[in-house]
Amino acid sequence: MPGLVIVGAQWGDEGKGKVTDLLAERADAIVRFQGGNNAGHTIVREGEEFKFHLIPSGILYPDKTCVIGNGVVLDPRILLGEIDGLRRRGIDVGNLKISANAHLIMPYHVLLDTAGEVKLGKLSIGTTRRGIGPCYADKALRLGIRVQDLLDEKILRTKIRAALEPKQQALRELSVQRRKLRKEAGEGDREAVEQELGDAPDPRLDLHTMTEEHVNYGHRLEPHIADTARVCWEALDAGRTVIFEGAQATLLDLDHGTYPFVTSSNPIAGAATVGAGIAPSDIEEVWGVAKAYATRVGAGPFPTELFEEVGRHMIDKGHEYGTTTGRERRCGWMDLVALRYAVRLNGMTSLAITKLDVLSGLDKLRVAVRYRSREGALLDRFPYHQSILHGAEAEYEELPGFDAELGKCRSESDLPRAARDYLDFVADFVGVPIRLVGVGPGREQVVWRD
Ligand code: GDP
Repeated sequence: MPGLVIVGAQWGDEGKGKVTDLLAERADAIVRFQGGNNAGHTIVREGEEFKFHLIPSGILYPDKTCVIGNGVVLDPRILLGEIDGLRRRGIDVGNLKISANAHLIMPYHVLLDTAGEVKLGKLSIGTTRRGIGPCYADKALRLGIRVQDLLDEKILRTKIRAALEPKQQALRELSVQRRKLRKEAGEGDREAVEQELGDAPDPRLDLHTMTEEHVNYGHRLEPHIADTARVCWEALDAGRTVIFEGAQATLLDLDHGTYPFVTSSNPIAGAATVGAGIAPSDIEEVWGVAKAYATRVGAGPFPTELFEEVGRHMIDKGHEYGTTTGRERRCGWMDLVALRYAVRLNGMTSLAITKLDVLSGLDKLRVAVRYRSREGALLDRFPYHQSILHGAEAEYEELPGFDAELGKCRSESDLPRAARDYLDFVADFVGVPIRLVGVGPGREQVVWRD
């Protein structure tokens, strides 16, 4: 049963979009199983750039089924914007299937997300403020609105009323605190507060307006709404290949990442079963995607973080700015302690290493092979205790760097010796073969190994 899961092996933005796009060529269906429009995949096709936040990257193939699974939370306004954008560029979205059980990000979720972050001040998590966390919270509280609810105005109104009720208090408090928040917010936050909270009562929160607006979304989405678990089963049972595409990444996993600086869903391979409605035995391969260095957006521990010249090299050469937020990413050396953890947690069978080209021009390359705790203990394993991880310093193995630009390499023998040695060191250390290497953003800029 050829189910293949693709997951981020680090802190996200590893280039999963491109790897999925390449593997999708041989697949029949591509399924997203968690997260929302906080993900941002970028694919470059014949010099044209496509950015996806919700729609699976496979949409660029006219003959593949693309599924937004039940585990995804979706903002219908954003999804329709993405559909319209693709249509304008001549891409057919007829093969897009949306789970009737997926939960909807409502306007109040977005508002509560921003307000929550502003309130946390210095302790903020660095969420993308798209309402994703509050939407998953409502799902767990059984107050969520699902895609299927869009198709019945009466049910929709009743559910929105029930979901809004417990939030009125919080939303009222917010308006009382508005002035205080404005005063306390930093420059960037202040803008967000103004934009999100405004002065007037938010018309998007009016029950009648919200219901009408969402009924309209329902009409537009209806042709895509489906029993997507069954769509996956039918493909798998017929022996077709189905790719399950994770958003975010392992170290941002709600349960196994660096909590609380994590995303509000489970981006690890096991979650593909829940988020798409398939069985563990449907999964045959798990591909992890890691950059040849490490990056992180938002707050949270990052033992190999670099602050000076080399970090700058990675930001500039790797264009390390978030697809969704435009924020500069934190950069650092590749962390093999964390990668080995990710390999085990996901049961990875193959690795794709992206952005190897970004390392060219550095004299020496380093990879973290263990941590040293604040008390001086050496740690070979990724620590489960938050305080230990926060105080951990990485210890490195130093490897020779390379100068040659890699953008034109297409086979292993085109790569400089030092680049090959670097890849071999990584693969040996974590015990998983590297099957694909990215040497540039273009689709053709890859080296297949083995
Ligand atoms: P994702 O969310 O994991 O798909 O990652 P993003 O799309 O946010 O970030 C990956 C970025 O790196 C995109 O701009 C890609 O075009 C680019 N990219 C992907 N692979 C490579 C590579 O091998 N080399 C370089 N230089 N850029 C790459």
